[in-house]
Amino acid sequence: MSAVAENDALLRVSALHALLYCERLFYLEEVEEIRLADASVYAGRTLHEELAKEEGEEQRSFFLTSEKFGLTGKMDAVRHRNGNWVVYEHKRGKPLLRKGEEPQAWESDIIQATAYSLLLEEHLQRELEEARIRYHGQNITVIIPLSAENREKVFASIQKARELRAVTNRPPVCDSSKKCLKCSLAPVCLPEEERLARSREWEPIRLFPPEIEGAALHITGHQSRIGRSGEAFKLEEGSEPARKIPSGDIHSITIHGNAQVSTQTLHLCADKGIHLHWFSSGGTHLGSFSPGPGPVQRRIRQYQALTDPGMCLKLARRTVLAKVESQLRFLLRSTRGGKRSERVEAGIGEIRSLLKTVPKAEGVDALRGIEGSAAQTYFDLLPDILNEDIPEELTPSGRSRRPPKDRFNAILSFGYSMLYRAVLESILAVELEPAFGYLHTPRSSAHPLVMDVIELFRVPVWDIVAVSSINRKQWNIENDFAVTKEKVWLSDEGRKKAIILFERRMQDKWKHPVLDYSLSWQRTMELEVRLLEKEWTDTPGLFAQARLR
Ligand code: SF4
Repeated sequence: MSAVAENDALLRVSALHALLYCERLFYLEEVEEIRLADASVYAGRTLHEELAKEEGEEQRSFFLTSEKFGLTGKMDAVRHRNGNWVVYEHKRGKPLLRKGEEPQAWESDIIQATAYSLLLEEHLQRELEEARIRYHGQNITVIIPLSAENREKVFASIQKARELRAVTNRPPVCDSSKKCLKCSLAPVCLPEEERLARSREWEPIRLFPPEIEGAALHITGHQSRIGRSGEAFKLEEGSEPARKIPSGDIHSITIHGNAQVSTQTLHLCADKGIHLHWFSSGGTHLGSFSPGPGPVQRRIRQYQALTDPGMCLKLARRTVLAKVESQLRFLLRSTRGGKRSERVEAGIGEIRSLLKTVPKAEGVDALRGIEGSAAQTYFDLLPDILNEDIPEELTPSGRSRRPPKDRFNAILSFGYSMLYRAVLESILAVELEPAFGYLHTPRSSAHPLVMDVIELFRVPVWDIVAVSSINRKQWNIENDFAVTKEKVWLSDEGRKKAIILFERRMQDKWKHPVLDYSLSWQRTMELEVRLLEKEWTDTPGLFAQARLR
């Protein structure tokens, strides 16, 4: 083996283990730097902590590095046996058991134990004869001879790892669904969705978690202050006693208005990967804090894909189709069962005609025009789906955005700003660049990619909720709104009400019609962003396919 090149970062021995398990797993972890700890990863860590307590500090793990092999790693334990040193690896699972044969170590475990032994040999300047792997699932220890064959396998793996590090495309998903079932990166890799994209006959198993852990913390009081107390956030709101909120219970913090945030809070957010967002009282997004530098490979692929006009047109077409079809279905659903007025029939007919023009649109500008015309007809028809007995003050007159001119539009606008925050978070979770989109033109006040993806969710996540809450008379026309001559905002009370409605909707589960499994709307947003990335990273075809039933 030649000495590692100066700029060639050392390989972790555990990364070779991942490589032998699945090349794509290696790539996601080592090149894209995505690491998620699932239950089995935590179980492995617990095993090592328990062993360390049992065995005492002197027999614990050793951390060694070799420039010659380009390897670094922490072996579980080193012991003296039969006059020589032996590397011990501890595994929670079982060895490979074949009928009529002695238990054997798994190939990835053999490579790992041999690689650690190479590091130890170099460190001790003496040749070792064997390594041992203890499988705690069956209390079996398997001896690994440090043969020429096993050493060659390590060198070949190092070579493969270096080759994979040099490419910008992810390796394909592995052939075995069984491996994916145990893989901590399945929610990022989406192997079952990839198999479905390749063959529509495939029936995907849900490996994508149906819900996001933790809650979104919203701070609406202007006098509020959020600080840190150990591993918890400390929230002080007016004269109320301070509340401690464990950081593990929170996935994001949103400040509406002028609440104060301490530097220590930002440090805790950075440490725990919690996003922080600031909105004005009127719902304008002011900025966000997202921990971490972001992965370069994924951003390069995104830039390459979204500078291709053909790719942008394809994605824009699908997005406009999904949005306008959702608007149409919502109107049809809301006027089902009664006699539709001529106005509604005419509007529905108009939207249907516009939909037919989407596949033929020759450019993104044409699609924006179609989307704008459909939106105008849709908003003109919204008063027709409100109950007749709602107060006149809640009836909209078309769509007014900046600023909203009536109560209905104030509800819509505030909900859309919540939606903006939720979609932005999904984009940040997938670590795409929100400023680089395919449909909306760049403008200073909003990230184009957020504005693009949001189009898939306006109707199902907020329009439906806004209309049904008005029809159920959940709004108080006096207390929930701040009305001036030029504009209408939600009052503090109104904002709290909207936040509750919105967060409830985000937790609502629905069945994805293409993937055929249930998940919350919050999870659906992240899934769609991951499927969007697949359009240029893996097999395309699943992004923006979901529709309201
Ligand atoms: S989910 Fe499957 S294909 Fe994806 S990285 Fe894991 S093992 Fe490989």
